[in-house]
Amino acid sequence: MSSCIFCKIANKEIPGKIVYEDDFCLAFLDLSQVTPGHTLVIPKAHVKNILEADPALAGHLFEVVTKLSQKIVKSLGASGCNILSNANEIAGQSVMHFHVHIIPRYDGNKDGFQMHFANNEGKFNLDDIQAKIIA
Ligand code: AMP
Ligand code: ZN
Repeated sequence: MSSCIFCKIANKEIPGKIVYEDDFCLAFLDLSQVTPGHTLVIPKAHVKNILEADPALAGHLFEVVTKLSQKIVKSLGASGCNILSNANEIAGQSVMHFHVHIIPRYDGNKDGFQMHFANNEGKFNLDDIQAKIIA
């Protein structure tokens, strides 16, 4: 028995509205349904988030995210989608098992989801940041 809620869904200890499954990944509808069709894609094996994930496993996970986002958008008549993965509490991660949100976007009243990116152009030294990342 696992104490992690997403491990429990992966182990079929508790139900989830599963929309895709293979040996390594599972996808199921998010309970909160930010928009209709809001789906979570998880690795079956417990890993905290992308910052601790094996890149090969994450690569497979994103292959599933790609195929499923195309299927979800088409089958539900959405106009687009947002792909999001929160890593650690500072980023809003509340369930500490790696998951990628697929959030379909709709024209009209099915969609109240808002994301805001601040424009900090000119505020930070891009040369310094670039040098640190590639060092
Ligand atoms: P995050 O804030 O990125 O960690 O997202 C966690 C997500 O998991 C939230 O959107 C929740 O609505 C969702 N969630 C939590 N428990 C369950 C559950 N048992 N089945 C489906 N989704 C869940
Ligand atoms: Zn887990």
